[in-house]
Amino acid sequence: MSDAPGRSHGRKSIRATLQPRDLLSETPELVSAWQARVVTLFPGAFPGILGESLTGKALQDGLWQLSPIDLRPFGEGRHRNVDDTPAGGGAGMVLRADVVSNALDLAMAGTPEDRSDWPLVYLSPRGRRFDQAMARRWSRAQGVTLLCGRFEGVDQRVLDAWQVEEVSLGDFVLTGGEIAAQAMLDAAVRLLPGVLGNAASTEEESHSNGLLEHPQYTRPADWAGRAIPEVLLSGNHAKIEAWRRAQSEALTQARRPDLWARHVADRDGD
Ligand code: SAH
Repeated sequence: MSDAPGRSHGRKSIRATLQPRDLLSETPELVSAWQARVVTLFPGAFPGILGESLTGKALQDGLWQLSPIDLRPFGEGRHRNVDDTPAGGGAGMVLRADVVSNALDLAMAGTPEDRSDWPLVYLSPRGRRFDQAMARRWSRAQGVTLLCGRFEGVDQRVLDAWQVEEVSLGDFVLTGGEIAAQAMLDAAVRLLPGVLGNAASTEEESHSNGLLEHPQYTRPADWAGRAIPEVLLSGNHAKIEAWRRAQSEALTQARRPDLWARHVADRDGD
């Protein structure tokens, strides 16, 4: 898509004002686009950084589609309450199972039966840690639904009933799932065909082959008395490749003994 009117009025405005009925009547041309549906109390936080640079261009071009689903309208009563105090006492508030489940009805509408074709994920510090392999799996699915928690989290029953997979951004606690959702979507979207200009760059970067990436340099060749390693200016591609490989292995060994051990096991197992 390169026509200007489509960019400024078509897809974007649909997303920004997404209501339940819009979700169920996606325009046919977008059906094949990779879908991200995000249940959140803060739909205004999306697309956020995902609207910039390569992920933003891909969004405008229809390579993927983002549907923030506001949890608030599913709330109870005049004030649309979405949370209540924790059973058993204690600090904070918990998102209600009935409210979240009604939002998931919409967020999972029309998705394939098999969750490997459309993961349903709760962003949670208790979850399995997100990694490049998971990003790749998501990017090969038709889409994902992400549930962003707030406060103390979500009533366990809705997670059980929907068999939601819990995924963590890392071993720390955020105030909500939105930043984690954006980080994970970024990692998945950049793997979609056509999103990065140079597809080869996802094959050689950190974590794709189980190793950390070699150092990168650019002009000027001399900066503040520091020169670019000579081999990189040699034009000898075999030598450059060997140097990069050696750097990549040395870095991984020094910084990430866990990755290195796995790499060695895989290599020697071959
Ligand atoms: N009481 C919970 C933490 C709640 S933090 C606990 O101790 O496990 C509030 C929300 O932020 C969570 O519901 C979750 O959606 C999100 N969140 C916090 N840390 C996260 C992390 N490391 N990865 C992904 N989501 C996280």
